[in-house]
Amino acid sequence: MIRALLTIDDISSHNTIDIVDYLNGAGITAVMFAVGQRIEQDPEPAVYALKHGMIVGNHSYSHPAFSTLSMEESIEEIERCEECLNMIYAKAGIERRYRPFRFPYGDKGGQNRAQLQKYLSEQGFSKVRDTDIPYQWWKDSGLDRDIDTLWTFDFAEYNIRENSGFTMDDVWKRINDPHPDSGAAILADNGAHIILLHAHDETEELVPGYYRILVDHLLDCGVKFDDPDFI
Ligand SMILES: [Zn+2]
Repeated sequence: MIRALLTIDDISSHNTIDIVDYLNGAGITAVMFAVGQRIEQDPEPAVYALKHGMIVGNHSYSHPAFSTLSMEESIEEIERCEECLNMIYAKAGIERRYRPFRFPYGDKGGQNRAQLQKYLSEQGFSKVRDTDIPYQWWKDSGLDRDIDTLWTFDFAEYNIRENSGFTMDDVWKRINDPHPDSGAAILADNGAHIILLHAHDETEELVPGYYRILVDHLLDCGVKFDDPDFI
């Protein structure tokens, strides 16, 4: 059996609502990581996600690489996004029970890494229950102890761009790669994953319904999606 938690980054976007409708139809609850600035510009898709059962987490205010920020700037990025999230939870009329956080680009803050983990812990951010993730590299890198939500498999579909040279073929290669350079093989038996997908209108333009194509494929391959659970 292969188990997975689905995470979807960079909401709000125009395709957020279609993604939520698709996930509801498929019976999948995802953690959607929001960029505060995008929530300010267009809160409704994020409110819609909340009203339809998704959990929305903090992905910073302006999506910077945290290793380029001071500790003070990092905290401001996180707190400004918190305000945006409190606003959409209030608008949706839903109690905010969980507060997961994901660093943009998975950049854990370079020299501030330990201090940022301490901050996230002290501020009561929610750690995804990742105790079933079996990979030695996950434990060796201390990822089993970190509060933020990294991932074990990245479709990398956000690289699909006009003239980028990266296409859906490359995404399929990643899905079928038994020995990926980073992360874990998604279709290997007895896996447990945190899967990264994005809500990007740019990808939607080039590959309409890409999220449906990819997630349906994993379902066909027997991947079971768990409801988000936190420690
Ligand atoms: Zn992102």
